[in-house]
Amino acid sequence: MCGIVGYIGEKQAAPILLQGLRRLEYRGYDSAGIAILDQGCIHRARSVGRIDNLIDAIGGKQFPGTMGIAHTRWATHGGVTEENAHPHSSCDGSLMLMHNGIIENYRDIKEKLGGEHVFRSETDSEVLAHLIEHHYQLLTGKEGDARLRLSVEAALSHVRGTYGLLVIHKDHPNCIIAARLGSPIAIGINLGEYFIASDPTPMLAHTKNVVFLDDGEIAAVTRSSLDTFTLKDEHIVKCVEQIDWNDEQAEKQGYPHFMLKEIFDQPTVFEDAIRGRYNLAEGTANLGGLNMTPTEMQRVSRIVLIACGTASYAAMVGKYAFERLAGIPTEVDVGSEFRYRDPIIDDRTLVFAISQSGETADTLAALREAKRKGAFVRGIVNVIGSTIARETDGGTYMHAGPELAVASTKAYTNMLAILLLYALQFGRQRRVSLATGQRLLGALREIPRKMQALFEQAPAIEALAKKYASYEHFLYLGRGINVPVALEGSHKLKEISYIHSEAYAAGEMKHGVNALLCPEFPVLAIMTKNQLYDKMRSNVEEVRARKSKVILLVNEGDEQAKELADDVLMVPPTMELLEPLLNTIPLQLFAYYIAVALDRDVDRPRNLAKSVTVE
Ligand code: GLU
Repeated sequence: MCGIVGYIGEKQAAPILLQGLRRLEYRGYDSAGIAILDQGCIHRARSVGRIDNLIDAIGGKQFPGTMGIAHTRWATHGGVTEENAHPHSSCDGSLMLMHNGIIENYRDIKEKLGGEHVFRSETDSEVLAHLIEHHYQLLTGKEGDARLRLSVEAALSHVRGTYGLLVIHKDHPNCIIAARLGSPIAIGINLGEYFIASDPTPMLAHTKNVVFLDDGEIAAVTRSSLDTFTLKDEHIVKCVEQIDWNDEQAEKQGYPHFMLKEIFDQPTVFEDAIRGRYNLAEGTANLGGLNMTPTEMQRVSRIVLIACGTASYAAMVGKYAFERLAGIPTEVDVGSEFRYRDPIIDDRTLVFAISQSGETADTLAALREAKRKGAFVRGIVNVIGSTIARETDGGTYMHAGPELAVASTKAYTNMLAILLLYALQFGRQRRVSLATGQRLLGALREIPRKMQALFEQAPAIEALAKKYASYEHFLYLGRGINVPVALEGSHKLKEISYIHSEAYAAGEMKHGVNALLCPEFPVLAIMTKNQLYDKMRSNVEEVRARKSKVILLVNEGDEQAKELADDVLMVPPTMELLEPLLNTIPLQLFAYYIAVALDRDVDRPRNLAKSVTVE
């Protein structure tokens, strides 16, 4: 949450920073701010709301200068006001700081700093600007930029909490200090210039060479150097990593919203997710990132999938796949619950931490707990170099490219792809025959073409969405592998349209949920032709008997089913385990078009942010 961008080089910083903020806006969009250092002066602008408001706040004023920092906030402490927007300044205005994360002991620090400092915001972050100022004043004997770096290090030694931090000071016109604990910092390197950001997306147009800070590290960045240290000021050498995303992937490319573009990206990025990761002749997957010997794989007696939000619904599909193909008992746990629950983990447990951003704080904390307890821990993440990717002993990138809409779509389908491949890899070692493995891979390879065919229905789904947009409640139903699909469809609808919606295993209806049914409560039921088709059909009959409107998601050619429905969505048939890959897509489109019909801010829904880096 919250996006941080910094630039130091020869070019004008403001346009680069504002463009960078746009790329990071999905991380938080309560308010935004910028500070540019030029000839001993710091120009600052802040505003409530989106980046456009910040541009208005800058207005006709000149913000010249070739170094600066910018921030888009997702408020944790203090309301959404201009005073609380970052950057925050020290008392004398010499120092500007922006912060991503939470300073847990900010009250104690504030108290200790006492009456000597004037606090102008309600945020936890501001105390850090004053604490650094305090140490800066104590370090009068130190020369050069080291004084700034050492005062940040000294201040951080008193901090409890998490931070991704950028600091500039008017007396240090060739230096940005960056520090990280729990909130990501990536530093892009180009000739004579450096880019600093919460993730590599803002720098893709400029460089693909990136250094990622690890927790407890601090960087001093000048126009010609990047030096990294521990908080104890020990010099450390970092590796430069290559990012294989490109800048066009981070553009809307003519679509009205990132979400729609990302839905339509799915066939292509799905191919990217599976390419080179299976062996048709052997009927198996070969995800090298697993980093386990065949003997270690044989020893696995339990799998735990840790995820949050949409990723947790992908994980539920993974549970079906691991249990059915590999016969390994599998659980899904949401990150925020896992570590507070004394989970039973041993050295035969394999834990997958699943997160698009690779930064989800709850998932990260859970994986650390699992590691402490001796489990094999692997990551399934999208963002290259992200913390989960770095803290696990192996894993797989989703290859979905940058996902910028807050509501996840293409990362979800790629999570499914990777989980299915892992399940096949374990399955082939245990109980899946060569023929079954080959059949599954054959069906998997057909998926992109079938996804593409589904898009032809987009206009019909749009019309349907308009018809249903005025309902205040929705119920999504599925059975078996389509329960997670119902959950994800319902989740998508509430995230971006703000319509109340629920999702249930259809067999549960008679145990309580039926009481909700009435003509004002439409039901979207997933009734594709799998082993539970007849059971699902009976559940749909029960719904109809209670006069709810029914939208049925069925396989193409299922003419009979149409008699049961007020409206129908069609999907091509596939193997049961792969159904979620197709069945979810009409639900994504349905939610998207309803949100558009209701004039919602589809890519930036209220109160949410992508990449949830606070607990
Ligand atoms: N805790 C800080 C605030 O509320 C930073 C939040 C963020 O990461 O955007 O301002």
